[in-house]
Amino acid sequence: MAYEKFYQPLRAVNAADFHTCYYCGCVTSGEDFVPPLAEIAAYKRADSGADFIRVPACGECARVLKNCSSGQLALRVDFIKRYLNQHYAQALRVYQMWESDELAEMDAAFRISLAAGMRLGEEAQQRLDYPGFRYEVDGHKSGQVAVVAKVYAVHERTFADYKSALNYAHEESRIPKGRLAELYLQQGESFDKAIHAFQQNAAKKAFERELKDKCKVFAATHVQHPKFIERTVRQYLQQDDSLSIAAALEKLRQERFAD
Ligand SMILES: [Zn+2]
Repeated sequence: MAYEKFYQPLRAVNAADFHTCYYCGCVTSGEDFVPPLAEIAAYKRADSGADFIRVPACGECARVLKNCSSGQLALRVDFIKRYLNQHYAQALRVYQMWESDELAEMDAAFRISLAAGMRLGEEAQQRLDYPGFRYEVDGHKSGQVAVVAKVYAVHERTFADYKSALNYAHEESRIPKGRLAELYLQQGESFDKAIHAFQQNAAKKAFERELKDKCKVFAATHVQHPKFIERTVRQYLQQDDSLSIAAALEKLRQERFAD
């Protein structure tokens, strides 16, 4: 195609990275055009500062990136990582949640499909974590790889991969892994905040249960409506947060029901 002459090839600096997809680390089978060939007229017209490079890519990355109109390499890296995360979400979850030694206890059919899911998930995780390689374009070498390796923190410790961090957070907190993974995302990708949120929530639920139970017993003893007792105890606790539920009930007893 005539337009291809506008694109400089992006080449790996180190021989070990030859024939490797820049985006995910798989074996190359084609090229990704940055910006895409379909957008070249618009980019040329706009004089947009697009990269105009040809990037070694595997079949899947090259195909998926046809849907990405961005003219910058870094934005295309973001695009493909988002895609991998979504497209392999189920396999990634299986890989992150399960350990190989747990498979032994499963029945054969389930074990086989789970093992396949774990393998696919592990590969997807490696592709997601792939940081790119050092390259040169037109004789100019890139300073460093585009993606900075991510670190996962749990309490005082850090982990190089999500799965190890999830396992450690699970062992430390005893929160079910599935719930922990959900909270991790809800809490801005922080294990510490996820654990804190879970414990806050658990503490709140325990408090509500205790309040209801104790007020019910108190209401029955003094022949009162439980809702009235509950409301009054909440008021006492609001006025003085050093009170326990039992102390608030005792105060109520003395003020309203003492002989
Ligand atoms: Zn790829």
